[in-house]
Amino acid sequence: MGNAEIKSALWEQIDERKDELIQLCSDLISINSENPPGHMEEITKYICSYLEQNNIDYEVLRPCPDTPDIIATLGKDSGRTLLLNGHSDVVPVGDLDKWDFDPFSGKVENGKILGRGASDMKAGLGGLLFAMAIIRKNNINLNGKAVLTVVPDEEVSGEMGTKWLIENNVVTGDACIVAEPSGFNNIEIGQKGSVWVKLKARGKSAHGSLAPYAGDNAIEKIIKILKELKTLRKIEAEYPPEIADVIKKSKEIAKEELQIPGVENIIDHITVNIGKISGGIKTNMVPDYAEAEVDIRLPVGIKAAIVEDKIKETIEKYSLTGIDFECDWKAEANYTDAKSEIVEIVAQNAKQILGVDVTRTYQWASSDARYYRQKGIPTLQYGPANTEGIHSYNETVDVKDVIDSTKVYVASIIDYLNQ
Ligand SMILES: [Zn+2]
Repeated sequence: MGNAEIKSALWEQIDERKDELIQLCSDLISINSENPPGHMEEITKYICSYLEQNNIDYEVLRPCPDTPDIIATLGKDSGRTLLLNGHSDVVPVGDLDKWDFDPFSGKVENGKILGRGASDMKAGLGGLLFAMAIIRKNNINLNGKAVLTVVPDEEVSGEMGTKWLIENNVVTGDACIVAEPSGFNNIEIGQKGSVWVKLKARGKSAHGSLAPYAGDNAIEKIIKILKELKTLRKIEAEYPPEIADVIKKSKEIAKEELQIPGVENIIDHITVNIGKISGGIKTNMVPDYAEAEVDIRLPVGIKAAIVEDKIKETIEKYSLTGIDFECDWKAEANYTDAKSEIVEIVAQNAKQILGVDVTRTYQWASSDARYYRQKGIPTLQYGPANTEGIHSYNETVDVKDVIDSTKVYVASIIDYLNQ
């Protein structure tokens, strides 16, 4: 049998066994894995027992006692390696009163699975697990191996999950599919960079009635730097011409999804969010201390160093003294070639299953995908999604999308490993 016959036989089986697939996703949702706090033992145990029941080899590694990483393998060591990735943690449910249903029920209603993690990303993860199980059950010969990593900490940094696995060469591969929620008709092939800035200003206290002649106002120093950081928003990215089409599509998607006038600019501009600020003791005192935290996101074509340069330039411009700053969580914008083999394979399979062309876009947020791309591994994100509930309330996923993306995963594993 050629790939085409194998794929359509497996697609038929997925349709026949769709209740098992949906049950798997519901079970994953019903296990609370909110992060923080990140109690990941129960969900890890569940996933391991699923792998065991389906005769899939796996191991659990713990860079820290509380951060179990699961690595499941299918196929053989010779040939290429296709990495598959999903995170098993979810963001906290927040205010329960804002949910119309129990976020841990995993109930299926009106063609949707309900609950925290439905889209981000327990349905995508369920799809990957099911895809491996169905390939294993049918004893499909693979001329290489598929390696699934299930990580426990994507929602809080990925330090002990994907970052640890990749930077220590625990896993590596020739391409990677991350089952993050991209939408059934969209493949995410890049993401913005980010810099989180912590600013601290020290000054000199004095009686408020003497300002500005006496004392040295720390709040005013912070305000000057924040004002200058905000000017970064006006800079337009200079990106290579071959990605112009992806940028254009990404802007269209942002506009359509977010429905806010001008929001498409987030794709090719720097965004600056002043997220925290504090300082001062009393109205009639000149403040001798103030601090602020800023979240800055950088489009493809602009390097993270621009932020530090801007702060240094501002300190010089106003001859500011007593300023300390730290740039945390620094990541460069990253992307995979829109025409790379893995992207073509997923796009073709999605088109065959859905009957529509899928777009190839960059996302405005970021995820673990960057760690693979930093290692030079072509990486895409493809997974079922209803965006409105992600990191918010009333999260759901469409049953049909879960089934379709599982078909795409099965087909793409086979096409990539058995050319
Ligand atoms: Zn996610």
